[in-house]
Amino acid sequence: MSAPASIAATPAAPAGAASRADAIVAALRAIVEGPALAVEAHVLRHGWRDALPQLRALREAVKAAGAFAPHLPPDLGGPGLALADFARVSEVLGRTPVGHWLANCQAPDIGNMELLHAHASPALRERWLHPLARGELRSCFAMTEPEHAGANPVWMSTRAERHGDDYLITGHKWFTTAADGAAFTVVMAVTDPDAPPHARASMLLVPMDAPGLELVRNIPVMGEPGSDWASHGELRFHGVRVPVAHRIGDEGAGFALAQARLGPGRVHHCMRWIGICERAFDLMCERAVTRELAPGEPLGRKEAIQHMVARSRAEIDAARLLVLDAAARIDREGTGAARDAIAAIKFHVAGVLQAVLDRAIQVHGALGLTDATPLAFWWAHERGARIYDGPDEVHLASLGRALLKRAAARHGVAWR
Ligand SMILES: Cc1cc2nc3c(=O)[nH]c(=O)nc-3n(C[C@H](O)[C@H](O)[C@H](O)COP(=O)(O)OP(=O)(O)OC[C@H]3O[C@@H](n4cnc5c(N)ncnc54)[C@H](O)[C@@H]3O)c2cc1C
Repeated sequence: MSAPASIAATPAAPAGAASRADAIVAALRAIVEGPALAVEAHVLRHGWRDALPQLRALREAVKAAGAFAPHLPPDLGGPGLALADFARVSEVLGRTPVGHWLANCQAPDIGNMELLHAHASPALRERWLHPLARGELRSCFAMTEPEHAGANPVWMSTRAERHGDDYLITGHKWFTTAADGAAFTVVMAVTDPDAPPHARASMLLVPMDAPGLELVRNIPVMGEPGSDWASHGELRFHGVRVPVAHRIGDEGAGFALAQARLGPGRVHHCMRWIGICERAFDLMCERAVTRELAPGEPLGRKEAIQHMVARSRAEIDAARLLVLDAAARIDREGTGAARDAIAAIKFHVAGVLQAVLDRAIQVHGALGLTDATPLAFWWAHERGARIYDGPDEVHLASLGRALLKRAAARHGVAWR
């Protein structure tokens, strides 16, 4: 397995952050388009857990290339890239289902790293964040409950009751991505049921081996339960005890912290989806020029196929501009000011992803449904893109409301 030269040793790379991002993108591209393809094939055929030895070996190559944990700030040993620069890194990694994991910037760990870095106590950071940043352990994030609409995140039943210096947690969560094999979860639990809805819940860090914490199962997604990082767990908390010192941020701040966690997270997801789209596009074009309908008559000569290629190209390029613009806005003005842009990219890019994947599969015919390419894997596992981190309808309504409120103000119409 050959690794590209270390970034630190790249002679022409100036010290600026943008050129550092260029160097990281180049190093990761060489891995993602080279040795990662063999590991990807193993994952597609045999599952994530079976591929762990190959995945871990390739992680070492990413480290040797100086491209590990490219999202981290300098105080955690990272390059301190702006969000707009990390977005470009995320696109390259998105080209393979193993990309983000190889560079230790996979969801949900990346969101937990940001959360702990900004809001956890020094002791929690030392014990949990530092090994997470080094890739020595994994984490998960438990917010959604099967009994309540996840689209309304302030409504939940999981309780954390104060008993002296401890919280006692009782509740039921599901779709906790990557719970299988995680060292800890960040759980959202109601600490004050009488507070206003947005101030009822808090975030608590719970070691996965805490007595009373049960991983019930990995939930099958489109028929596949997955394993290890590539899974979504159902969890039950049977009176799990954690010290009050395991709370992240203030009591009642859980919802605000979750919102802050989701802003940049949506940019991460959208750029990963654009990486998926680019790979699907390349596969679609390759198939269109190499598959013959008759001797000397490639599929790509058909106008119907040309339309699919052209439409996909335009949609991907437009989506990328939209996301990079949102990322630059977050860098410049913060998540709050970029709220509309974040809502727009979430539903728009998820739709582009679904359309491009569908066309790529169509052009491949039956082959597109097999494990010969990652298309079928993504089709199954990325259908959720239009549901997780807020379903389409929630983002559409939020953006539409904001736009109409401004229109009403411009036209002197009372609006609520
Ligand atoms: C692959 C995947 C990974 C996930 N990972 C995690 C994780 O790691 N941690 C975690 O806590 N959760 C996770 N989730 C859960 C996710 O956050 C929820 O699925 C999401 O918030 C939607 O909640 P729900 O599934 O309960 O759907 P519901 O809230 O029941 O909504 C169902 C549907 O109703 C419609 N709808 C909802 N609200 C509105 C509205 N206001 N207006 C109009 N229509 C509406 C939408 O079409 C929506 O899809 C994951 C989900 C998936 C699919």
